[in-house]
Amino acid sequence: MLTNDMLSQWDRDTFFHPSTHLAQHARGETPSRVIAGGKGCHIQDRDGNRMLDAFAGLYCVNVGYGRPEIAEAIAEQARELAYYHAYVGHGTEASITLAKMVLDRAPSHMSKVYFGLSGSDANETNVKLVWYYNNILGRPEKKKIISRWRGYHGSGLMTGSLTGLELFHKKFDLPLSQVIHTEAPYYYRRPDTAMSEAQFVAHCAAELEALIDREGADTIAAFIGEPVLGTGGIVPPPAGYWEAIQAVLEKHDILLIADEVVTGFGRLGSMFGSDHYGLKPDLITIAKGLTSAYAPLSGSIVSEKMWKVLEQGTDENGPIGHGWTYSAHPIGAAAGVANLKLIDDLGLIDNAATVGAHLRAGLVAALGEHAHVGDIRGEGMLAALEFVEDREGRAFFDPARKAGPQIAAALASKGVIARAMPQGDILGFAPPFCLTRAEAEEIAEKTAAAVREVLG
Ligand code: PMP
Repeated sequence: MLTNDMLSQWDRDTFFHPSTHLAQHARGETPSRVIAGGKGCHIQDRDGNRMLDAFAGLYCVNVGYGRPEIAEAIAEQARELAYYHAYVGHGTEASITLAKMVLDRAPSHMSKVYFGLSGSDANETNVKLVWYYNNILGRPEKKKIISRWRGYHGSGLMTGSLTGLELFHKKFDLPLSQVIHTEAPYYYRRPDTAMSEAQFVAHCAAELEALIDREGADTIAAFIGEPVLGTGGIVPPPAGYWEAIQAVLEKHDILLIADEVVTGFGRLGSMFGSDHYGLKPDLITIAKGLTSAYAPLSGSIVSEKMWKVLEQGTDENGPIGHGWTYSAHPIGAAAGVANLKLIDDLGLIDNAATVGAHLRAGLVAALGEHAHVGDIRGEGMLAALEFVEDREGRAFFDPARKAGPQIAAALASKGVIARAMPQGDILGFAPPFCLTRAEAEEIAEKTAAAVREVLG
């Protein structure tokens, strides 16, 4: 029997953890927590400690932990056919069924879905498809991609460049030169507090237009954005933002990539964020919620407009030179089919909308007047608190104080997992869609206690 001490030692000696302070972890200064099980909205570590996971892993276990329907679909697929590739027209019942289910749920102008493994590789695919598209259309100069500061689109070379967070660029020689960033639709941190939402939206659109003018519209291929900024702070856009941005993109013939890795399949209380905010994207990135993370699977949903050009490209050049060994992996596809069925059967998208609103109402009731809670925001089953030194001036705490991480740690000691977002003192919540009203109340109550413990 492996003891926890042995596992902990092996962990520190051998395991290179993602997004981790490597030196502190190796020295044993950060916890080495071994997660052993999960049921519903709770996970359990090897010591038997049960925690309410108010971040659904990394906002991905949308249907909750321990669903036998998905586990059985995976086991059945593994027994019958664990793997076959999807090259040159091959597929499996699961991968074809899932493509059909995704398209049935996607906005009606979307045409096909390409399957990958992670949100990062799906966005790499998207950029390649955009470049291919413009090459086929005979405009090889139109290649730059505009992303937003605070956007998160992955941590590969291109996708890490698209990500607009310093941590993901620092010491990696990113961003690459084909990527440029524009203003985040972050109303709480607008440049001038006197700006109304409408004025701030006009400002974001004007900033985008100025960037396009500076670079030249004939050099810009696409704009990528999450319907609601996720890792950059869980920031829903101000009213009218997407309408204003899309008008600028249309004017300059710039494609829109909606990165719905977090928002796809229900997190905002709508099937897609594109439905929620009236986006008409050319590409939609999907991942996390596609399988609720029961197996790795992602996708790029391609519009009919782009598909026609991609088809033309292969008529002129032969098969498209893009494919992963694990594209449309049958086990991921089987998990996806079972997951999307479960979301429908249990009415989980409605639950995400109503219980998510209840969670935010609870946070507002408990902390709305707190001197150091500057903003409480969210949409669907997403919520965030932003902590400030002073509410009037919205001044940041000294980063050395680590207010956000400290509050997350205090909350964890009360049995609730929320996420200290990587930039600013922001505490994020993205629970599974099956959260109950009582669990939402527990999160709000314990969060308020943690905030008071750390900030008074
Ligand atoms: N896009 C968005 C909006 C994401 O939130 C993430 C992951 N948090 C990604 C892309 C990258 O996905 P992955 O980590 O699966 O590569």
